[in-house]
This record gives sequence, C-alpha cells and structure tokens, in this order.
Amino acid sequence: MTALLWLRRDLRLHDLPALLAAHESGGEVLPVFVADPALLASAGPVRRAHLSAALEAARESYDGALVVRVGRAEAEIPALVREAGAGSVHVSRETTPYGRRRDRRVERALGDVPLVATGTPYAVGPGVVRKADGEPFRVFTPFSRAWRENGWHSPAAVPARLRWRRRVESAAVPWEEDPATAVVPVGEAAARARWEEFLEDDLADYDRTRDRPDLAATSQMSVHLKYGTIHPRTMLADVAAHPAGRSEGARRFVAELCWREFYADVLFHRPDSAWADLREDLRGMAYEDPAGAAADHVRAWEEGRTGYPFVDAGMRQLLAEGWMHNRVRMVVASFLVKDLHVWWPHGARYFLERLRDGDLASNNHGWQWVAGTGTDAAPYFRVFNPVTQGERFDPDGAYVRRYVPELAHVPGAAVHQPWRIPDGLARGYPERIVDHAAERAEALRRYEAARR
Ligand code: FAD
Repeated sequence: MTALLWLRRDLRLHDLPALLAAHESGGEVLPVFVADPALLASAGPVRRAHLSAALEAARESYDGALVVRVGRAEAEIPALVREAGAGSVHVSRETTPYGRRRDRRVERALGDVPLVATGTPYAVGPGVVRKADGEPFRVFTPFSRAWRENGWHSPAAVPARLRWRRRVESAAVPWEEDPATAVVPVGEAAARARWEEFLEDDLADYDRTRDRPDLAATSQMSVHLKYGTIHPRTMLADVAAHPAGRSEGARRFVAELCWREFYADVLFHRPDSAWADLREDLRGMAYEDPAGAAADHVRAWEEGRTGYPFVDAGMRQLLAEGWMHNRVRMVVASFLVKDLHVWWPHGARYFLERLRDGDLASNNHGWQWVAGTGTDAAPYFRVFNPVTQGERFDPDGAYVRRYVPELAHVPGAAVHQPWRIPDGLARGYPERIVDHAAERAEALRRYEAARR
C-alpha cells in the first residue's frame, strides 16, 4: 500500500527518519508538500523564493516524484490519501504552535488513516530534555548540559530500494521568482556544499571569528536548517568526526546549534512566548507606538538610515541579502528596543518578513533575549552601544563600507563615527536620528518605572 510522506520543513532525502518509516510500511512512497496560501502570504517574498527553490531542488532529490498541492492541509492531505489509496501519512513531528494545531486538524480529517510522526527537525526533539523534577528548563546553560547528556541518534540512512509512487498530479513551483533580495542556492546539494566549505575553512577558528561580521566566517547554514535541507544531527555527526572536532571552535559551534534547540524547546512549552513577553516583570514598560509618534524613527531603522553606521549596515544587509550577521542582529534589535523604545514584536515581525532564515522560535526569542524580556538572565539594563560594538567587531570598518556606500570614502575604524571627521557626512550619509547616551538613560528610566 502507498505511504504518503508529507514534507513540511524537511526538504531532503538524507537523514529523514519519516522517510524510513514510510518506506518500512512496505509499499511505494508518495512525497507531498502542501502550500497553504495563508502561510505563503505571511512568509513574505524572500522566504517564499527560498522555499520554492528548495522545493524545486527536493523534486530533483526525489527523482521527480514530489507532488505539490496548494490549499489547506486538512483538505489536501486526506484528498491525496483517497486519490492514491494510501494507508498511512508520515511526517516529522512538528512542535510550533501553528504546526501542532494544523497536525491535529489533519489527524481528525484523516479518520482511520494514521498520521505517523517520526523524528523532528532537531537533534533532540523539543519537550524531551527536562529538569530532574520534570519541569522544562528556562535558562540556556543547564539546558545545554542536559541536552548534551541526553545525546542524539546517529543520522538515518537513505532506505535502499525506495519505490516512489509516480504519475500523481502536482501544482507548479516556483511561486516567487524574482524578489528584490538576493536568493542563495538552496536544496540538499547546496546545503552540503556550503557545509563542507565551512567545515574546511572556518570550524576550527569559529570561536575567534564568529563575532566578526566583516570576516563572513559563520556557517550561513541557517537557511538550510530552516527548510530542512540538512538535519542538525548530520551536522553534529560531521563535527564530531572532523579533525577539528575537539577544538574550541567546534565546541562553540555545537553550542550555537543548541541555542536553536533551546528556543524550540521554550516555544514548545510556552507557545504564548512567540508574541508576548516571557518574563512578566517588564509587562508594564512604556513603549513608543511604531505606527504613531515613533513612525519616522522606525522607518529610518527599517531602511538603514539611523545615522549609526553599524546599525545601518546591518539593516541594509538584511534588505539586500535577506540575512544579517548574529552580532549585528543583536545590535540593531537593541537599537530599536532601547534607543527608539519600541516593543520587540514590531522588530521581530519586520525580521520575519525579510530574513531568509526567518524562524519563529529563534527569531522571537532572539528578540526577547535582547529586549531583556526572555529566557536570559541578562538584565534589561545591558544596552548595546552601536558605536563601540562597531569598533570592536568591525575593527577596520570593512563591514560598514560594504553596505553603506555613502561612507565608502571614510577609512578604517573612523567609519563608525563619521560625524567626527570633516567630510564624513559629505556624501549623503544622514545625521544621527537620536543621541545614544540620552536614549540609553531614557531606557533605564522607563525600566525603573516599570519595575516600581
Ligand atoms: P552560525 O554562527 O554558523 O551558527 C550555526 C547555527 O546555529 C545557525 O545556522 C543557527 O541554526 C544556530 N544559531 C546560531 N546562533 C543562534 C542563536 N542565537 N539562536 C538560535 N540559533 C542560533 N536564527 C534563525 O535561524 N532564524 C531567525 O529568524 C533568527 N532571528 C534572530 C533574531 C535576533 C534578534 C537575533 C539576535 C538572532 C536571531 N537568530 C535567528 C539567531 C542567529 O542570529 C542566526 O541563527 C545566525 O546569525 C545564522 O547565521 P549562521 O547560520 O551563519 O550562524
């Protein structure tokens, strides 16, 4: 009997336990992706373009057998089951609030045909690692310790003698061919190629170079993890087997993968933390209205015209590439929340619409971390200074000059304070929209008031 393999964010052939389970049910496997128009609309053009490219690549990996249907999953999956006479539907377990609700709806609509979940998009499934008393972790370091102690399975093999179900009607892909933002190569082969390049060139020094946006020395694997064109367990196995696998660089890299798992775990236990402060003590904070009094400042932030070069370079990198270096994500997020006094969900939404790796758990908890409302014990009064952050992590100014052409004539680290040199603003770079020192003090004043 045919088994349906319903792909969601796992667009690959290798290391996919749900494929193994579908194959083991004994008959042909029919891989399907359901494009829900409501989800596509909320994804924004950058993610839509990457998703359609990943789907085209997956169709190749699946030897042309991948079927795409457009509509609501609870209608499309049962319809395809009837059409193909399938006996089961196989998935990777989904743990986001939307994914869980959708899967419950599909399960009900399937009636007697089982929806079988095997594996997740994580090395350790969200909800698995818990404290001794069974409670979920709220802090990263103890979570990461327990996560390592728990360990993970080795990668799943591609089943031998797979038989694909063919000649099933499919919708066309892609839907988005030409967004203004660059589209990077995606799909399993592209993920593998980028991954091997990173292992070779940058893993060993990752602990020393990861904070330097000018060096572009991070893995850029987030887009591949987002669409599941590689499984993190495959990456962990490769790191462990690598000659530099015991280096400080490797240890740090594994810790970063663990942040992704931690945030997915937090979202699993606290679905409300997607859009509301996780910590309750700052719920009384006074924020500016991003559509009202703060609208001009917020637009300048969105467009990379704040007058703070490190912030503007980051926001322009986001617009040009659909990606931003982690250090700069932290600095621009801090600027929106603590210099412009705008509540973090506004920034989180803006990021999700434009990032190619836009992921609810990592993005929104990353924002909460910076805003001081999230999982981190770090206090609200840690305010990133956009000038000193730039001087420290972009010491020669190369990152700023790459994205801000109005400052291309300013040499070295002087680019982080162009207002201090005679012709710094001569080529149209804007004046600072706020005074960082004054806004920092204002942020702290609001913080104290909220705590009282
Ligand atoms: P590397 O440094 O090579 O790290 C390897 C992998 O580890 C990444 O691909 C990612 O999967 C994971 N990782 C690294 N750092 C983090 C982190 N802080 N939190 C969670 N996972 C991490 N990451 C996303 O994948 N999607 C998002 O939408 C997203 N939004 C963010 C928003 C803010 C405000 C902040 C501060 C961080 C956000 N991050 C997000 C985390 C991080 O910035 C990116 O994962 C990273 O920059 C991706 O680049 P890379 O693959 O080269 O990372």
